[in-house]
Amino acid sequence: MISNSRVAHHPHSHSRCIDAALRQAKQICKLKKLRLTSTRELVLKIIWQGHRPLGAYQIQDILAAINRKSIAPPTVYRAINFLLLHGLIHKVPSLNAFIGCPFPNSVHSNIFLICQDCGNTAEISDNSLNKILRSVCDRAQFRLKTQNIELSGTCPSCSKSTNFPD
Ligand SMILES: [Zn+2]
Ligand SMILES: [Zn+2]
Ligand SMILES: [Zn+2]
Repeated sequence: MISNSRVAHHPHSHSRCIDAALRQAKQICKLKKLRLTSTRELVLKIIWQGHRPLGAYQIQDILAAINRKSIAPPTVYRAINFLLLHGLIHKVPSLNAFIGCPFPNSVHSNIFLICQDCGNTAEISDNSLNKILRSVCDRAQFRLKTQNIELSGTCPSCSKSTNFPD
């Protein structure tokens, strides 16, 4: 199992997450001979500003604020699509929002653990669960293309901060 829940759902120094994400993105682009243009890199950084998924409009607004001028939506969408295509970010369908992938170097099927209180979303990939899902699809003669599993709940930080009355 690979997971970033220990980081995403706990207080931590987030600059390390951003550094790691940018380092991995640069590695992947170099390896695949892709161009990480300044807009693509900036959009990736914006998405990695936290562990809360961001919608395209939010990304566009932040980008416009940084560049001090409005950005054409196609520019933002092209950058988002590039990052999606190469596994550097994922879409969280129920939120129609994007989140940075903490392990873009590995082939994985994701499960998102979404905190309903703070919005922080962790990503997990678990082979035993993937195996079960594959066998379910096999039995239904269903050809699985994309797997999007989202679980909603309360993260450890938010559970801790809730004061239960005596
Ligand atoms: Zn972080
Ligand atoms: Zn991922
Ligand atoms: Zn939370």
